[in-house]
Amino acid sequence: MAFVVQKFGGTSLADADRIRNVARRVVETHRAGNNVVVVVSAMGKSTDGLIELATQISDTPHPREMDMLLTAGERISMALVAMAIEAHDVPAVSFTGSQAGILTTADHGRAEILDIRAFRVRECLDEGKVAIVAGFQGVSPDSKDVTTLGRGGSDATAVALAAALGASVCEIYTDVDGVFTADPRVVPSARKLDEVTFTEMLELANAGAGVLMARSVEFGIRYNIPIHVRSSFHDGEGTWVKEETMEEPIIRGVAHDESEAKLTVKGVPDRPGVAAAVFEPMGDAGVNIDMIVQNVSSEGITDISFTVPEAQAATAVAVAQSVAADIDATGVDLDTDISKITVVGAGMKSESGVAASMFRILSDAGVNIEMISTSTIRISCVVRGDDTQAAVEALHRGLIGDAS
Ligand code: ASP
Ligand code: MG
Repeated sequence: MAFVVQKFGGTSLADADRIRNVARRVVETHRAGNNVVVVVSAMGKSTDGLIELATQISDTPHPREMDMLLTAGERISMALVAMAIEAHDVPAVSFTGSQAGILTTADHGRAEILDIRAFRVRECLDEGKVAIVAGFQGVSPDSKDVTTLGRGGSDATAVALAAALGASVCEIYTDVDGVFTADPRVVPSARKLDEVTFTEMLELANAGAGVLMARSVEFGIRYNIPIHVRSSFHDGEGTWVKEETMEEPIIRGVAHDESEAKLTVKGVPDRPGVAAAVFEPMGDAGVNIDMIVQNVSSEGITDISFTVPEAQAATAVAVAQSVAADIDATGVDLDTDISKITVVGAGMKSESGVAASMFRILSDAGVNIEMISTSTIRISCVVRGDDTQAAVEALHRGLIGDAS
């Protein structure tokens, strides 16, 4: 008997018909003799709806109450899915994150899973029932409060539960067929990948490929749980995310992210300690810094540019302005019209000249590069927001090849 965790995203649960469709898939898996744990997201875009509602009530909703509110979305789904499964005469029981024993830090809105004590879920499976767990949420043993794991957090719930329960696979059911070589809305000829390694997927997720939450991939890596990203609308195979793949292409995929902003602290005196002076308070304010570039100094003065999530831009500007005053820098610039373009491939490790090819392709496409950063299997460039389409298309054509 196999043991499967099946996670269904919001689009797959958007209305009663789709919930019935999800139940049908779960029941099929159960009847085939598998242990099934189902993890659900909130229906459709209901989390966005709840956030919108909160902002109509308060400009600064208390984080604890925000989490109380948002966790309700997944509770609705879990109960409806349980009812839909029971309609097939298969016993099913739903659990909130707290009931499922998902223990987290007390950081509202971005809690991290510390431990999973899934006694009730196990008991439910031992009794031959299907367990349904609300994604994206847990409880802090310190504060005793309900927490959420951050947007897209149901993916993390699913893979972490799969690890805790010893499942053989975590299936992520979604509204696309799998992981693609690029966003098909930008590159219509992008292809579904059959396989991608954990580390490639982690880089792609961090680079803006929206299909999986990056933290879920980290759980996959840590506990070696293969993740199968597949469509909830048909039975076809999706993309397997796992430790090793048959092929190691030089470039597996191109991702883009338009959700970052670039900050520049201008006229910074070039002396030891200024980078620490800029970035320590950013860290203290919880700002997530991505790329950093410090220009060559001229006459002892330099510029430091870095990218942050657009949602944190206001905080980052406030921090940067106060630091700039302290260190005698001349000012702070904010640029929200940027886009980060990333190419990822495990084969890059043993291949030289990939960065040069990327830069040549962008230059031939008339795209100017403003910032560059690399890892062993990734190269990212910041470009103008308007150049996103041209850059992604050209890189896909030049480095992956359009399907003929
Ligand atoms: N419902 C939450 C969100 O929209 C969590 C999830 O869907 O994974 O972010
Ligand atoms: Mg999602």
